[in-house]
Amino acid sequence: MPIDAAQPYDDTNIFARILRGEIPSKKVYEDDHVLAFHDINPQATLHILVIPKGPYVSWDDFSTKASDAEIAGFIRGVGHVAREAGLVEPGYRLLANIGPHGGQEVPHLHVHIFGGEPLGRMIA
Ligand code: 5GP
Repeated sequence: MPIDAAQPYDDTNIFARILRGEIPSKKVYEDDHVLAFHDINPQATLHILVIPKGPYVSWDDFSTKASDAEIAGFIRGVGHVAREAGLVEPGYRLLANIGPHGGQEVPHLHVHIFGGEPLGRMIA
């Protein structure tokens, strides 16, 4: 069920619980600003989620409220994960679903990294 991306942050959401270590994830990378882990229901050969550690619902929330260090850390973190996964040369896709029209289901900002195979056209 897509969420309302303008809602206040709900710290019981599944990614907040993963960040707190309350439920397991297949961790790919972690630093001061980001956590990256494999999607539980992969939509491509490689499907990694990268989330900022701060309590941000959406891109709008993050881009207006996060510090410059958090924003830089998130952008660099996504790049680092893609590079370490060997995706720079073959290429990959980034996707962020935001709000009802975007089909966002988890109300904690996340970027999907898809790769490992040709991904076809932009939107099915
Ligand atoms: P959204 O539609 O919000 O952009 O995508 C949410 C993503 O989170 C989906 O691809 C879904 O498979 C993934 N997901 C939902 N719950 C869990 C979970 O508990 N663990 C992991 N690793 N991924 C999850």
